[in-house]
Amino acid sequence: MRQTHLFTKTRREAPADEVAKNAQLLIRAGYIHKEMAGVYAYLPLGLRVVEKIKQIVREEMNAIFGQELIMTALQRKELWERTDRWSDEIVDVWFKSELKAGGEVGFGWSHEEPIGEMMKAHIASYKDLPVSVYQFQTKLRNELRAKSGIMRGREFVMKDMYSFAADEATHLSYYESTKTAYMNVFTRLGVGEDTFITFAAGGAFTKFSHEFQTVCEAGEDIIYLNREKGIAINEEVLSDETLTSLGVKREELEAVKTAEVGNIFNFGQQKATDLGLAIKNEQGEDVPVWMGSYGIGVTRLMGVMVEKFSDEKGMVWPKSVAPYVLHLVGLNLEDAAVRDWADGLYQNLRARGVSVLYDDRDLRPGEKFADSDLMGLPYRVIASRKAREEGKFEVVTRAGGQVRHLTEDELYADFDASPLT
Ligand code: ATP
Ligand code: MG
Repeated sequence: MRQTHLFTKTRREAPADEVAKNAQLLIRAGYIHKEMAGVYAYLPLGLRVVEKIKQIVREEMNAIFGQELIMTALQRKELWERTDRWSDEIVDVWFKSELKAGGEVGFGWSHEEPIGEMMKAHIASYKDLPVSVYQFQTKLRNELRAKSGIMRGREFVMKDMYSFAADEATHLSYYESTKTAYMNVFTRLGVGEDTFITFAAGGAFTKFSHEFQTVCEAGEDIIYLNREKGIAINEEVLSDETLTSLGVKREELEAVKTAEVGNIFNFGQQKATDLGLAIKNEQGEDVPVWMGSYGIGVTRLMGVMVEKFSDEKGMVWPKSVAPYVLHLVGLNLEDAAVRDWADGLYQNLRARGVSVLYDDRDLRPGEKFADSDLMGLPYRVIASRKAREEGKFEVVTRAGGQVRHLTEDELYADFDASPLT
């Protein structure tokens, strides 16, 4: 991508009403656009990050036999009334509207009810199970406070998965496999070491649900952590009873600020009972299905990554999700010979499948470097008159600022060794 073709502009200042670092940086770098508090549009660079995160999540969900689908944003009132989750007293984040033809609809803030209902048309017997389905949906939630940038949107992308099993053993082993799949996702995003599986409230079948909490100063949660014992507990369930059941003392736990990046629920047979989702077992009896639900906050994760991977100059994207991996910064482009040569280099890199953003704008070097630092691509290669004359490029690693001088061939050899696609 040539920057002269990219319509988005960088800016020195974020909007005055934007207090979250993640949104400030993303707005300044032209990754996102703020529509209103908690509501952000994803511009080309931001969308590429979202899609890369989604692809990692998708690969890990497919690896545990998840089948991707997409449900609807508009939801039927009757379905949610059946499980007693339509009322605003019980679910405080509903957006609702009225149909012109009469009747109310809700905007999907979660999808257990419609997915469970849809499944009735497809599963009738234990022979049809196990099944796991997932989607990437723009969830709509009427959040009271939206001050954490894209970490708390009123409109945000979630991956939500739902599992259906005929028996307890299959169900439990699937639930466990999602923990591994989730940790794989977080590791691939570079936050694995800072992400802890915590005991949290909201278990229906078991006492606890499990949350995935990533250490982050800008997070809205606090967990109590014992790294040695590998125990992490959410504030909401921290009680003498919990401590005893987990075999840990209060003074052995350290309080840490975190962001909830994922949450998994084991419903046992309760949810299917509420939804009226039953199958015939091997004896031909009608039994409720064993269900679980599994969420990952895709856009919240992006925000967490900006919070964690940034410095005073801007963002510092890891290769796994950077919108482009290499920032080719052209200098002295007013010189036609340098420009032709730099254009050629850009074409060569593209031909080799390198994911490259080419700053081909006529701007002062200082402005280009400031923009490049702000945008935070993993590697910067400087194509200047000097580089052309010396046959060596300055290659700067955004994380850590390592500087190397490589010939064009060395550059390609380097990329071949660790592909920058
Ligand atoms: P929170 O406690 O932060 O409000 P939640 O427990 O209500 O979140 P879940 O229903 O468990 O959220 O949703 C699954 C995941 O979706 C969460 O773990 C989180 O990563 C993400 N998520 C939830 N609400 C938001 C939001 N308003 N903006 C962005 N991501 C969100
Ligand atoms: Mg949750």
